[in-house]
Amino acid sequence: MNAIRTSRRTRTLRHSEIRNMTLECTRVSGINLSQGVCDTPVPEIVRRAAQAAIDDGVNIYTRYDGLPELRRAIADNLRRAHGLDYDPETQIVVTNGATGAFYCACSALLDPGDEVILFEPFYGYHADTLRALEVVPKCVTLQPPDWTFASRDLEAQVTGRTRALVVNTPGNPSGKVFQRAELEAIAEFAARHALVVITDEIYDRFVYDGREHVSPAVLPGLFERTVTIGGFSKTFSITGWRIGFSACENRELVRMLGHLNDLAYVCAPAPLQMGVARGLERVGPEFYELIRREYTCKRDKLCAALSRAGLSPHVPQGSYYVLADVSRLPGKSSKERAMFLLERTGVASVPGSAFYSGAGGEDLVRFCFAKTDAELDEACRRFERLL
Ligand code: GLN
Repeated sequence: MNAIRTSRRTRTLRHSEIRNMTLECTRVSGINLSQGVCDTPVPEIVRRAAQAAIDDGVNIYTRYDGLPELRRAIADNLRRAHGLDYDPETQIVVTNGATGAFYCACSALLDPGDEVILFEPFYGYHADTLRALEVVPKCVTLQPPDWTFASRDLEAQVTGRTRALVVNTPGNPSGKVFQRAELEAIAEFAARHALVVITDEIYDRFVYDGREHVSPAVLPGLFERTVTIGGFSKTFSITGWRIGFSACENRELVRMLGHLNDLAYVCAPAPLQMGVARGLERVGPEFYELIRREYTCKRDKLCAALSRAGLSPHVPQGSYYVLADVSRLPGKSSKERAMFLLERTGVASVPGSAFYSGAGGEDLVRFCFAKTDAELDEACRRFERLL
């Protein structure tokens, strides 16, 4: 008998469509607007500080919860940018990206058979992480154009096993920026059902049209029940560095998040932690302003080209993705339509079905606009082949 048999919990897992489409894109040497790679330049301060850290010998394990410089910088940044008050010594853990933070938070909080509410369209890694831990995602569908939900939709998903709710704001793939009133409704709902709120705020700096990112934990009643997750992959264009964090008011939980972080990968890469720490200390508000301006231009450019090509975009309020209506393209599913688009234009996107639990998303594909202007311009030109 073969000794190699995968565990029960792996059986629901598939390779993410984000990665599948990246492979398909490489096959045709296309332009990859599928994976949120973020190949825009890394700020010089961040690059230089990481290089200096390697030269200065910051190359060994850090403390299980990260370098003190970085925890302090994260705490300052959260206080200044979002009004959150976490103690860097006891309430913040540096992780391998927001992905590592999310995995550790879910393992620390949830048992097999527990249920967690997700808003869909969701980021596939959120759903798959839950499934990998034998936790059941229960979805509340957001309605375009503003990706809104009704309180009764939340209520409808609650059972005796519901333990948590995930809020991804600004959202991937919808770009939804949760408004204060929506978060108030979530706070009231979470309190009523004694739920933990796990946030993913990795796109906190990517918010457009004068909107503001509201960090859920600033709401009355949410600070005590929220695990705030973020990262620097997007802000500093360092998706391959894997530097993120989780923060929580509850020190015991934070210690457990640290233990799980230690168990899974010991620590995030030491010199890269230092690069991010110095970046956070030294870039000023003008840097974040520049991100908003540059990404607004990229968003508008991509959305205009999609409109011209007859692929109506849902113009995002935040993050750096656009969901576009591809119902006019041939194909029976969003995967077939994304493949048609790739064959015809050489531009890769992610099929919308990757962001829905049921039959949703088949008329949608997702494009990422965290690209250099030259590449984005070329992709926009190629959409003309659809006319
Ligand atoms: N967050 C990015 C996306 O949605 C990257 C995901 C990944 O490659 N794991 O595309």
